[in-house]
Amino acid sequence: MLKRLPPNHERNGAILELLNYENAGAGGEERVDDLLAYFEPDYPYIIIQDLSLPDRSQIDTVIIMQDRLLILEIKNIGGKLRLQTNPSVLHQSFQNGKQRVFKSPVVQAETAKIKMEKVLKQINYHLPVQIAVIMAYPSQIIENVPPDATVWIADELFFQLHRLDIDNRLLTEEQMKSLGAQLLAIDQKYQPFPLALNMRINPQDIQTGVYCPRCRLRKMKRFVRKWECAPCNIFSKDAHLDAIDEWFMLVKSTITTKECKTFLGLETLEAAQRALRRKKLEEVGGKRHRFYRQKQEHR
Ligand SMILES: [Zn+2]
Repeated sequence: MLKRLPPNHERNGAILELLNYENAGAGGEERVDDLLAYFEPDYPYIIIQDLSLPDRSQIDTVIIMQDRLLILEIKNIGGKLRLQTNPSVLHQSFQNGKQRVFKSPVVQAETAKIKMEKVLKQINYHLPVQIAVIMAYPSQIIENVPPDATVWIADELFFQLHRLDIDNRLLTEEQMKSLGAQLLAIDQKYQPFPLALNMRINPQDIQTGVYCPRCRLRKMKRFVRKWECAPCNIFSKDAHLDAIDEWFMLVKSTITTKECKTFLGLETLEAAQRALRRKKLEEVGGKRHRFYRQKQEHR
């Protein structure tokens, strides 16, 4: 991705650090996202994934309901897990005797709760915040969970949420939507990506085109439904799909068909639209003002 920035860009070091940090992401969230895709309870709700808060800390999943805001702290850690309190840490042990120690997910969730409560207070919403730690896979058995903490297996999350009774309707559906929009506005402001915004890179300095996946140096030439890097002697049908990911990381969190056409150097809007469709993006706006953004799990 750095290839798209001018050489010696003074922020390259900082950007590299940020990318390494982002790549170290936890995983397991996709599994929960898959489960939530079939979530159809009787009550209204709004799900926000990967929410960034003003201190740039991330919350895996937020579910806004009329009577509460639920924070899910999703963990994907294998082996045998044991929560220790005083001090609170998570011990992971394997059959071969290997051990590792992690931050306690319960403490992480509690911390997220305090931060979220602060945000809600600032934007004037009086909504109780509830937390749950979600273990992504049933094989991840966690022992010694403190009695006041909620730890669910991902599969269990589904029915736990379905059986919730929403009786104290603190928010109307309109207020829920408005809260969701406000949280997303905060999120936009504190997302590390796109870098152009956060690292003050002039979008005009960003190279367009589709780069060769092998040499990563040269831009590929477009032929009918394929890309070519002649020196590498490589043809690719989908090299341009990576370029769309890079757009989201570098330029903007949304893309229109026209922007896609220009960025990829395509001939027609139809080709750009096909590319965007293949990325399975979220479509926002009506037919006339349609733009696309990444589904939450990719952000
Ligand atoms: Zn090449």
